[in-house]
Amino acid sequence: MSGARRFFVPKAEEETLLEGEEFEHAKNVLRLSAGDEAVLLDNSGKEFSAIVAEVGKRSMKLHVIGVNEGGREASTDVALLFGYLKNADKNEFVVQKAVELGVKKIVAFSSAYSSAYMNENKLERLNRVSRESAKQCLRSVAPAVEYYPDLEGALRSAAGYRHKLFACEFAQTSEADVSALSGSTALVVGSEGGFSREEAELARALGYAPVTLGKRILRAETAAVALTSVVMFALGELGLDGGREASKEEKDR
Ligand code: SAH
Repeated sequence: MSGARRFFVPKAEEETLLEGEEFEHAKNVLRLSAGDEAVLLDNSGKEFSAIVAEVGKRSMKLHVIGVNEGGREASTDVALLFGYLKNADKNEFVVQKAVELGVKKIVAFSSAYSSAYMNENKLERLNRVSRESAKQCLRSVAPAVEYYPDLEGALRSAAGYRHKLFACEFAQTSEADVSALSGSTALVVGSEGGFSREEAELARALGYAPVTLGKRILRAETAAVALTSVVMFALGELGLDGGREASKEEKDR
């Protein structure tokens, strides 16, 4: 675990109360007590260093002693729209990996061949996974997970993205050059049932370019991680070149 424990709060202020689930976790699992350090996150992108001042029965009071800019967010906006899956663990996997890879907008949708159904609890659970994943990978923003009961609504929710890619299992070739991407990018991956031809046509009509992920049919969750990874790489968000430079410098020293 790197550094102080991290908590999401609605708003970080000089004196901030930790309540509800985050409080229970801080008190009963992490056993924080007066004088301990913590980092408060409020989705503003900033990180607030704080000290526990008081532990009560239902809340914990923290004093903010410093603030910094975070600095772990991707510089490019990437959205992942994914077909809601039957297996809860797989939906959680997709959300967790998307957050780790730096995705800023996450949308689950129902489509023609998906037989899973969403409810408020399940959506809240996915949002919790997003927050937990954000803390673990040291992001200061946990993307909200939204849900659309239809593909069209989901596709339209990312209308403003510069590039829009649609992973189409029956596409023969890609109609977008993924290696040349720059700027905001929305990605669409289907559920285990895949997409219908009509849905592929709808996506195209809404400006989404079909892309193939190769000759094999990947599981939906594999496709989501694979496409997000190659797109993040193409956008320069995985820092692979920077990493090589840094290790070279270290060797030279
Ligand atoms: N049931 C479908 C497969 C669905 S795979 C069938 O039998 O054909 C789930 C999703 O992963 C697809 O909708 C697509 O978005 C993505 N996917 C999987 N393999 C892919 C590939 N080779 N090319 C592009 N997208 C792929």
